[in-house]
Amino acid sequence: MPAPTQAPQPGDTCSHDIEVVPPLGVDQPGGPPKLQQGIREVQVSMALMDEFLKYAASNTRRGVESCGILAGVLDEKNGCFQISTLIIPKQEGTSDTALNEEEIFEAQDSRSLYPLGWIHTHPTQTCFLSSIDVHTQCGYQTMLEEAIAIVMAPRDARKRCGLFRLSTPGGLQLVQKCPERGFHAHPPTPTGQAVYELCGHVYLNPRVQHDVVDLR
Ligand SMILES: [Zn+2]
Ligand SMILES: [Zn+2]
Repeated sequence: MPAPTQAPQPGDTCSHDIEVVPPLGVDQPGGPPKLQQGIREVQVSMALMDEFLKYAASNTRRGVESCGILAGVLDEKNGCFQISTLIIPKQEGTSDTALNEEEIFEAQDSRSLYPLGWIHTHPTQTCFLSSIDVHTQCGYQTMLEEAIAIVMAPRDARKRCGLFRLSTPGGLQLVQKCPERGFHAHPPTPTGQAVYELCGHVYLNPRVQHDVVDLR
C-alpha cells in the first residue's frame, strides 16, 4: 500500500522535466522488447520520487542531503524489475552518506527484495553524479547491473530529477579500479565513454505501487 499522499509542497514535486527515453511498453505481443544494453527494464513511479522529497524536505530546507535506498521485485512474467520499496535509512546528515548497511540489508532480505539502487537529494547543487556518487553507484551496479541512481535537485531549474547509471563497460570498470575516495577527478574511460549516463532501461510506470520502510 502506498503511504497516504499529502498536498504537494511548491518546489517539492518532481515535475515532468525528467529525461528518460520513451517508454518501452510492457504489453507488447511477444513479450518485453530486448534492450540494447542487454539488461532488464526497471520500472519506477514518479509518486515514489515525490514521496522521497517529502521525507527529505526538512533536510533540503537546511541544505543537507538526504538518501534513500531503492528495493524491489522481479516481475517474472514481464522480465522486468519494479521498484516497490523505498527504504529511508538513518541519515548521517553529511554529504558523504555513511549508512548502516547491515540494517538496510536486513530490511531488504527480510522482504526478499532486490537492491535496485538509491535516491538522494542535491539541495543546493545541480543534477549530476559527483565523484563520490559514482563510487556509491559502483557498489550498487556491481551487485546488480540494472541498479540506478536517482538524483533529486529541487534547485536545478533545468533538470530537477535525473536517473543515472555508470556507462558499461567503460565507466563501471574505471570506477571499480579507482583507489581514490572523497571528491576527486577521474581520467577518461578506456572506452571513451562518459563515466556515467542517463538510464535507457528505466520506464516510469504510474501503476507500480510502493511502500516506505522508515528506519530513522
Ligand atoms: Zn550527489
Ligand atoms: Zn574514483
